[in-house]
Amino acid sequence: MKTKLAPLHKNKNIALVAHDNMKPVLNEWATKNREELSTHALYATGTTGYALEKALGLKVHKYISGPLGGDQQIGAKISEGDIDVLIFFWDPFEPMPHDPDVKALLRLAAAWNIPVACNPASADFVITSPLISSTYERHIPDYDLYIKERTAD
Ligand code: PGA
Repeated sequence: MKTKLAPLHKNKNIALVAHDNMKPVLNEWATKNREELSTHALYATGTTGYALEKALGLKVHKYISGPLGGDQQIGAKISEGDIDVLIFFWDPFEPMPHDPDVKALLRLAAAWNIPVACNPASADFVITSPLISSTYERHIPDYDLYIKERTAD
């Protein structure tokens, strides 16, 4: 896949998602990092978003609940370039009815080359990186070229 550079801007659009057993862990992590998070725009699946708004007292844009399609909504936003960072505390100990959606979300985050954190340790590394508050040029699929090559006679 040919790529091109696209910026992740100084102020990030951060998506946060946690499976039920991981919601207290995400709330605790987000509370610890409230100051940094408050400088970015926050997005979340439905239930995670309500819990975070309550814990942080910050505005969170809420998609619908994950099992009802919220993971897919966030995946779509990643493919449109509207989500810059994914903090996704998925549950490693329980299968989910929406496992295909979880896999799809992680796949799109990989395809569009955004940083992903799956647990408090990786999220600590992401949130304390100098790159979280500076512009970062990342390689993304060159869609114009991709479609040109596939539609050439
Ligand atoms: P929820 O969805 O925030 O609505 O619980 C998260 C998920 O299970 O993907």
